[in-house]
Amino acid sequence: MSLEAFPVDRFKHSQPPAFVGSNNTDGVGSGPPKAAHRLRLSPTADHMPDSYEDLQYQLDFSPMLFSSLERYLPPPMMTLSRDAKVNYMRDILLRYSPEGERTRVLKHREYRQKILTNYKPLHRELYSMHAASFFAPSFLKAIRENTEESFRSIVSEPSPGILVFEMLQPRFCEMLLSEVDNFERWVHETNFRIMRPNTMNKYGAVLDDFGLENMLNKMMDSFVCPLAKVFFPDVGGCTLDSHHGFVVEYGMDRDVELGFHVDDSEVTLNVCLGEQFSGGELFFRGVRCEKHVNTETQPEESVDYSHVPGFAVLHHGRHRHGARATTTGHRVNLLLWCRSSVFRELKKYQTDFSSWCGECQRNKRERHRLSIAATRSELMKRERKTAS
Ligand SMILES: [Zn+2]
Repeated sequence: MSLEAFPVDRFKHSQPPAFVGSNNTDGVGSGPPKAAHRLRLSPTADHMPDSYEDLQYQLDFSPMLFSSLERYLPPPMMTLSRDAKVNYMRDILLRYSPEGERTRVLKHREYRQKILTNYKPLHRELYSMHAASFFAPSFLKAIRENTEESFRSIVSEPSPGILVFEMLQPRFCEMLLSEVDNFERWVHETNFRIMRPNTMNKYGAVLDDFGLENMLNKMMDSFVCPLAKVFFPDVGGCTLDSHHGFVVEYGMDRDVELGFHVDDSEVTLNVCLGEQFSGGELFFRGVRCEKHVNTETQPEESVDYSHVPGFAVLHHGRHRHGARATTTGHRVNLLLWCRSSVFRELKKYQTDFSSWCGECQRNKRERHRLSIAATRSELMKRERKTAS
């Protein structure tokens, strides 16, 4: 799959607003580019773009977007220093991104920076990937082998598209739990106003906001993508390229249950970290596209799953689900919402999602059934005519 489709369509068909009557007052760049500095309409295929991955915290946009866009630079610019290219491309990208979104991104970066400079991590070893001490041996072995067969050997599938497997070592779960506790304590002591993970949880913390973004990115790249490639090829598979990583907490004095919803993700990894609890089962009710999100559940789509610490559930983000009340104790889960910009871009041009939406599938089967019935009755009519 080519990433080029993303920038091409955006840059070919629309004019950036700032090129006509500019309100660009942020001082980036030096006004509208001259004709000789226009982006090319098609990419320079034999140009090997720079990598911008190491700049991910300094850039306003995904490093991958910069690498893709670099192929569209006017040829004289391609040989410039990486810094010069970054400035030029950032200037262009900023013209495309709406003001509100830019302010939001900037504000959020400031917010994170404030946390990172003040919060002292408890377990430094959590902040970079140490696969051998993080993951269960069976999981690591399957990832190393990286075949469909090896994945199937560790995964159970209580219902199609709901994959369960042992993933995290107890020691890792304990460390992450105490790190989150430590963070919550710091938030409480300093009266820092933190943003909660999503609109549905009042408790819990965004791990990406206090320094775990890099580690979680590695987790997605090297430990979720290989599985997604095999089990979720229709919703981004191996093109997952961004994530939202957080913990949710349930029990007394915490959130109790979680209503029926879909995630803002292509693929969701949900791992139970502990501790002692009862209740809190996940219930699933079938995968749905946006159009069909409120359609009824078929009996075979109704599935319950009870959490086991260290075990992961991997499912389609649009697999409708909720969590029952955690009746006793305290339950903490790690959530990684994995997203694919390629999948999201392609989805805009599609109307039929029968490769994964249960309702689209049923509609397609129904259309098929009706067309077979129509053909049959047409044939019978003809037969009767010839016979008479
Ligand atoms: Zn649908």
